[in-house]
Amino acid sequence: MSLTLHPRDGVSFRFDPGTLCLEFLVSGGVGVYAHYETLHEPADLARWAAVSRLGLEEVDTTADELTRAKALRTALWGLAGDRVHGRTPRPADVDAVNHAAAAPPLTPVMTADGLRSRVAPATGSQVIATVARDAIELFTGPYADRVRECAGDNCALIFVDTSRPGSRRWCSMERCGNRHKVRAHRSRER
Ligand SMILES: [Zn+2]
Repeated sequence: MSLTLHPRDGVSFRFDPGTLCLEFLVSGGVGVYAHYETLHEPADLARWAAVSRLGLEEVDTTADELTRAKALRTALWGLAGDRVHGRTPRPADVDAVNHAAAAPPLTPVMTADGLRSRVAPATGSQVIATVARDAIELFTGPYADRVRECAGDNCALIFVDTSRPGSRRWCSMERCGNRHKVRAHRSRER
């Protein structure tokens, strides 16, 4: 599962942050990502739920849920940034995530052909709770120390490295990985 990003300075590329809550960061947010805001109206939250690894077709969303989703996202940026830079998480961010996680999440169902799906239509609140629970799983789980920021210059994308060797450095090989290779090659030629 990966999102297609469209940076202003170049070619579109695919980015898989590795888990749901980090995928939510890509919807926009703080710092450099304020420019990439995609959540302008309640329906945008439903659109994100459709293109994310949730793959939800039907989500009913309200203006209040949009506000709460963005507040959760700000807290997640805080937690992820603190984790990446080895800082202690801020209590306000922890509280915000715990509060969001306390609401009922999406309800899983099994389809007749044995696949996993979710009860539809879902609500924005359920999406928010599910993202928040995913964040608790991530930041308290076995991969908490594998949350990283892309090693590319001027790239602040955050992912969790779930690969077996644990050597993932780039948001995407197509983008930052390739740029690095090209630069390394050029400096060898010089
Ligand atoms: Zn990158």
